[in-house]
Parts: sequence; structure tokens; C-alpha cells
Amino acid sequence: MPDRVAASRTARPVAERRARSRLTQLVSAQGLMRGTLQVRQRACGKPNCKCARGELHESLYLIVSEQGRSRQLFVPKDWEARVREWVENHRAAREFMEEISRIYWDKVRQRKA
Ligand SMILES: [Zn+2]
Repeated sequence: MPDRVAASRTARPVAERRARSRLTQLVSAQGLMRGTLQVRQRACGKPNCKCARGELHESLYLIVSEQGRSRQLFVPKDWEARVREWVENHRAAREFMEEISRIYWDKVRQRKA
């Protein structure tokens, strides 16, 4: 694919268009959520539960830090798939932003808008 040749000048607009269009698609049509997912294991305390024999319960939490403060939210099982998707969409959108940003870095460096 010619747009893989990111180093050449002619390919740059193609790379930029692709990154922009993927970013636009994500931002305009998909759920987005910044955060980290964390699986935690715990014992519930009931003496006859499987967790008392070492099979711990697993719960999913979403961790989001805002202005240096960390917030967390329990994610119910039936919400896991969509929350994972939203978190992944945010990560991907950020990656496309970074890609575009690198292209503009080069513009400044090469004095070529
Ligand atoms: Zn238990």
C-alpha cells in the first residue's frame, strides 16, 4: 500500500487523511471513555463459598484519574463488553490524535505547511 510509505512527502497527506477519518468516525459515532480497567479478586467472607477454598470472586473496575485524583467505578458483568469497547475507542482515538500530531510536528520542523 502506497500510504504505508509514511516517510515520503507525497504519502503524508494520505496518512493524515486516514488518521483524521478514523478519528472522526470514532468521535462522531462511537462511545468513548478514558480510563483503565482493572480486575480485582476478593473473598466475600461467606464460609461455605467457593472463595473460601481459594476460588476468588472477580470484579471489574474502571479507574479514571482527573486532576490528580483517581476515581473508580464498579463495572457490572453485563456492562463489561461495552465499557471495554468505549475504553478501547478512547485509546484508539488518542492514538490517531498522536499520529496527526506527529505529522504536524514534521510540518513545523520542515517549515512546510
Ligand atoms: Zn465468596
